[in-house]
Amino acid sequence: MDVIEELRTYREKDIPYSRVLSSMCTVPHPVALKAHKMFVETNLGDPGIFVGTVELEKKLMTMIGKILHCKTPAGYICSGGTEANIQGIRAARNIQRRQRRGNLNIVIPKTAHFSFEKIGDILGVEIRRAGVDGEYRVDVAEVERLIDDSTIAIVGIAGTTELGQIDPIVELSKLADEREVELHVDAAFGGLVIPFMNNPYPFDFQNRGVSSITIDPHKMGMATIPAGGIIFRDERYLRALEVETPYLTSKTQFTLTGTRPGTGVASAYAVLKHLGFEGMKKVVDSCMKNTKILVEEMRSLGFEPIIEPVMNVASFFTEKAERIKDELYRKKWVISTIREPRAIRFVIMPHVTDEVIKEFISDFRKVVGKIN
Ligand code: PLP
Repeated sequence: MDVIEELRTYREKDIPYSRVLSSMCTVPHPVALKAHKMFVETNLGDPGIFVGTVELEKKLMTMIGKILHCKTPAGYICSGGTEANIQGIRAARNIQRRQRRGNLNIVIPKTAHFSFEKIGDILGVEIRRAGVDGEYRVDVAEVERLIDDSTIAIVGIAGTTELGQIDPIVELSKLADEREVELHVDAAFGGLVIPFMNNPYPFDFQNRGVSSITIDPHKMGMATIPAGGIIFRDERYLRALEVETPYLTSKTQFTLTGTRPGTGVASAYAVLKHLGFEGMKKVVDSCMKNTKILVEEMRSLGFEPIIEPVMNVASFFTEKAERIKDELYRKKWVISTIREPRAIRFVIMPHVTDEVIKEFISDFRKVVGKIN
């Protein structure tokens, strides 16, 4: 068998996105694919060679900075939200550690993504978890109680993984300012959703206390994987991450990985430039419209959403979440469940069209009928 034939046999085993209602990734935009192919050889880990790609990344940072209300954005495109969160907290640690004592800690919402578990392990910082209110937004008073002399940063989430909820970043920013700690906002998902909504919640650098933001083009930015994003308020944070690079075309490096593809930069830039603000707004509008359709269908089947969806993530109470998920998987539908409360979860990405929802609901009805 020809090797390409062999590869095809493996690739055909993968489940197509049209059956996936659980992922925050999606089919790349056609312009992202074109851009990706043009940059497959590039390595941003050696910037003196890929001069044009470096310039493009700077332009992309300015573009994302505008979306996030920052005139001095400093950051880069990385492997994903996990790496972006690691770097956000690593920079906070390096900047704050001189004025802190004892075993350093960060305060995160208990709804935070599991990447923060890895951060605790890698950076050796204690992770303190604050509870949430009835709408699953972090309890700011509890965050305040958990801050002490060893706290380097607090974290807010703009688009929680499980419910798509936005934490009260405005209040967290005031708190960060008062207590002189860094505020990292994890907008891995919401960063390319909220700015394109009507009356967007101010989750970004317009809040004085926000130091860094995770914003992933490989989620709602429809870029090719890998394309995560970490953006800092200014260059000072990148300087805090630098190590010397004795044998490269650069003298220092602030990224976590060494060799780093330029494909994410090119594909993210291509989508944002090609679609523009209005084009992105149309994509988000359509995802929100489809979210409403899904919620209505689910309600008509007796499933209530845990919160009224804020963005294109919707989770529904059910004690039978695991069984429903497993039965649907047998029918080649992928949905997910959440940690607390017991619920099934959907992410209504651009590939989850009204037709996909119709087809899904028809199978969902059968599965629920069988289980009950
Ligand atoms: N942060 C949030 C809020 C997420 O939802 C996710 C992934 O879904 C991540 C971070 C991690 O992103 P990645 O899987 O790209 O590392």
